[in-house]
Amino acid sequence: MSEPLTFALAKGRLLDETLPLLKALGIEPLEQISGSRKLLFETTRSDIRLLVLRATDVPPYVERGGAHLGIAGKDTLLEYGSDMLCEPVDLKLSACRLMTATRVGVELPKTGRLRVATKYVNVARQYFASQGRQIDPIKLYGAMELAPIVGMSDVIVDVVDTGNTLKANGLEPRDLIAHSSARLVVSRVAMKTRYHLIAPMIEQLNEWVHQTNAA
Ligand code: AMP
Repeated sequence: MSEPLTFALAKGRLLDETLPLLKALGIEPLEQISGSRKLLFETTRSDIRLLVLRATDVPPYVERGGAHLGIAGKDTLLEYGSDMLCEPVDLKLSACRLMTATRVGVELPKTGRLRVATKYVNVARQYFASQGRQIDPIKLYGAMELAPIVGMSDVIVDVVDTGNTLKANGLEPRDLIAHSSARLVVSRVAMKTRYHLIAPMIEQLNEWVHQTNAA
């Protein structure tokens, strides 16, 4: 048998939504993923195996051929910004908005570089450049809500779902940068070399999205 199709999944909240989707497609890990230290899982389909990665590592794994396809948030894909990846299916999971946020009632400085705390440095740079503003990015890996409160940044760029986290930290959402949801991501190379295996999966996922959202 040829090498199995390798599917890169993101740990965390997206994984909780992805596993039921894969199950609906008849793909189940042979071992429990949650709580496991393993990174690679065989599945009930001998032609498919799963990698469980940090969300930000899904795009490079797929781009560099470590996985043939994966599931990643649009926020992560925008930040990664590769033209070697295609996104054939919007799975409509983990929907959220990439937004700017500031302290409640505080105006942005009118001139000078804006200090922007975010894990989305590329997205932030592009967005503010489109507004004619240069930024001084502060790359953080979590708790960006704190940065404006302690006076370290003027603004944050982060994903917002209900807005409760911003509110609980004295911040308010400002500008919408982009809507985000989970996407099937495939490298352009795998799309050509593995098309016979990937095309049926795209069809099944489209069908699943259609049924789930019609319900
Ligand atoms: P909320 O309080 O519902 O607006 O959720 C915001 C918090 O959850 C922030 O810390 C976000 O980084 C995180 N978050 C919200 N939605 C998502 C998502 N779809 N994917 C990843 N993180 C998210």
